[in-house]
Amino acid sequence: MSTEGSGRGSVSLQETVQSSRCLSVGREAGNRHPVAFRVRAMHMGRSIAMCRRQDFSRMTQRTAMLDKHLRDQGTWSQRIGRGDFAGRPALFLDRDGVIVEEVNYLHRISDVRVIRGVAEAIAAANALDIAVVVVTNQAGVGRGYFDWAQFAEVQQYILDELAETGARVDLVLACAYHAEGLGELRVDAHGWRKPQPGMLEEARASLGVKLENSYIVGDTVSDMQAGFHAGLPGGALVLTGHGARDRDLHAEALDDLMREGFALEIVEEPAAAMTGWLTRAAGKRSS
Ligand SMILES: [Mg+2]
Repeated sequence: MSTEGSGRGSVSLQETVQSSRCLSVGREAGNRHPVAFRVRAMHMGRSIAMCRRQDFSRMTQRTAMLDKHLRDQGTWSQRIGRGDFAGRPALFLDRDGVIVEEVNYLHRISDVRVIRGVAEAIAAANALDIAVVVVTNQAGVGRGYFDWAQFAEVQQYILDELAETGARVDLVLACAYHAEGLGELRVDAHGWRKPQPGMLEEARASLGVKLENSYIVGDTVSDMQAGFHAGLPGGALVLTGHGARDRDLHAEALDDLMREGFALEIVEEPAAAMTGWLTRAAGKRSS
């Protein structure tokens, strides 16, 4: 018995059953949510051999990528390109609510929406030889809502979307440790988790950027505090994502930062915050 028709792309019942076995092989190998693309492949009527080959290839690539970028189970460091940023400033960008719209625990590429103007602003930083560094807390991994493989898939999609506008991120740093994390990811106030400055210090260690000339754009008070703790002279709290909430909810903490000498700006849009600082940085460079 089979469900096949004569058209291209039809799948026999036997193939479907075999493909289902293929799916469970993928799951046994440690992929928690590999179903979507496998189902897609199944509906495209690919052969089981091809399915297995592609699954194996994807799993191998994915495992290699995780091996390459995970420093330990809770911290991710992904260098892109070979730009020399020794002694240069860095533009630190939070990801969710700054580069892409905040959707709470982003883990599906279908939910990725790059915020207007951000890619162009990143490209402007690239043109000025300013390192662009993504620093993102990923409590969703820590809490077990999604895994590093899903983070990697979303992250790559964002990088590809930016690249379409000629924008390049030079370093992606992420921290999954959280006070309510699962197992080994349960770490309170890990050095990399913002408001701690660990990710920014890692950027200095791996790229040689000058933190005292750098800047951070974020949508939470903890982004600004991480910048302050790392010795950045200033940063911008943007009102996208959680920004408008944090501006009101943590007004006192933001005032404290300013009292301590951190040049905090509150700017409506991430792109405006980025280009405002880039214009000043470019002015300093030429003067
Ligand atoms: Mg954010």
